[in-house]
Amino acid sequence: MDDEARNRPTRPFKVPQPVRKDGAGGPDFGPRDVLRDLENPNMLVPPATDAGLLPNMRFSFSDTHMQLNQGGWSREITVRDLPIATTLAGVNMSLVPGGVRELHWHQQSEWAYMIWGGARITSVDAQGRNFIADVEKGDLWFFPAGLPHSIQALSEGCEFLLVFDDGSFSDLNTLSISDWFAHTPSDVLAANFGVPAETFEGRPDSQLYIFEDRVPGPLASAAVESPYGTIPLSFKHKLLAQEPLRTPGGSVRIVDSSNFPIARTIAAALVEIEPGAMREMHWHPNDDEWQYYLSGQGRMTVFGGNGTARTYDVRGGDVGYVPFAFGHYVQNTGTETLWFLEMFRSDRFADVSLNQWMALTPRDLVQANLNATPELMGALRKVKWPVVKYP
Ligand code: MN
Ligand code: MN
Repeated sequence: MDDEARNRPTRPFKVPQPVRKDGAGGPDFGPRDVLRDLENPNMLVPPATDAGLLPNMRFSFSDTHMQLNQGGWSREITVRDLPIATTLAGVNMSLVPGGVRELHWHQQSEWAYMIWGGARITSVDAQGRNFIADVEKGDLWFFPAGLPHSIQALSEGCEFLLVFDDGSFSDLNTLSISDWFAHTPSDVLAANFGVPAETFEGRPDSQLYIFEDRVPGPLASAAVESPYGTIPLSFKHKLLAQEPLRTPGGSVRIVDSSNFPIARTIAAALVEIEPGAMREMHWHPNDDEWQYYLSGQGRMTVFGGNGTARTYDVRGGDVGYVPFAFGHYVQNTGTETLWFLEMFRSDRFADVSLNQWMALTPRDLVQANLNATPELMGALRKVKWPVVKYP
């Protein structure tokens, strides 16, 4: 290959420059990461309405540490990576067929969404009641803080998102059964279980975290009967199977303690935005929002009051964050459907729609406040449309 051929780009693209249409800005000759700039057109050239000092509110799982084990992997976005995200932390995990996230527990509640594949989840509560169920794509689970649990992939393997109600949580810092065994003398284990100390010679010498195992048999073969019965409130919910609220441009499925009673500390919405549509201008009157983008690409602008606004490019695999009460919207800027989860450390989902607020306020007042045209006043909706798209 001659020099000319070697230097010719194999995939032609226009190198983007930090220059706005009105001429503001100027060329960037480097050093620079052009691939990242191509992914972040609204960071390179922010909308002219962006202004002021708002902190980073987006972080990609692609920029995190990967924990690779025999049996699967995990990575997490916590307050260490995204300092503003103090209320919730997230873990993205994948297990190979039969792979196990070992028996463990922690001080935080765990909410999860299955992205693909299937898994068997187990838990036991303080009354000696148990819960053993299989989850598939689009299903949720919720393990209340302090209760022990496990996750094992079924025949396809699986990938899921875990969300914890504490931004400083780390999944690598939980209480594990193997870790406790490793740090308990054999004679104490012998006394506890009533078996000889040699029984424990083969125990793991440290936390396993994720390990490889055989694919488990059918659910019926895993049944364990408790004399105290099964846990009465299901730890599982079929979110994707739930009938969504459909509006022009997309759909929303809301899940909180009203339809998934055990999920007392984490509420969520699964949002679908078609190309050209947007999650309407709104805010949440109860808590910060932690987002996980499942697929597609878009941009989110956050309004922080006092003249501040900032736009973040988002795509599948990103986490976004919006502080309590800050105004925001999310636009689909790509050619495929944008799917994301909005999550809140709350027992209920709540949002305030800018459009609905204006429609339910005396017209003269709204008109005078914004010098609004009759056209705008006529377009206001008393009914909330979480996702909108107009011709
Ligand atoms: Mn856990
Ligand atoms: Mn929101």
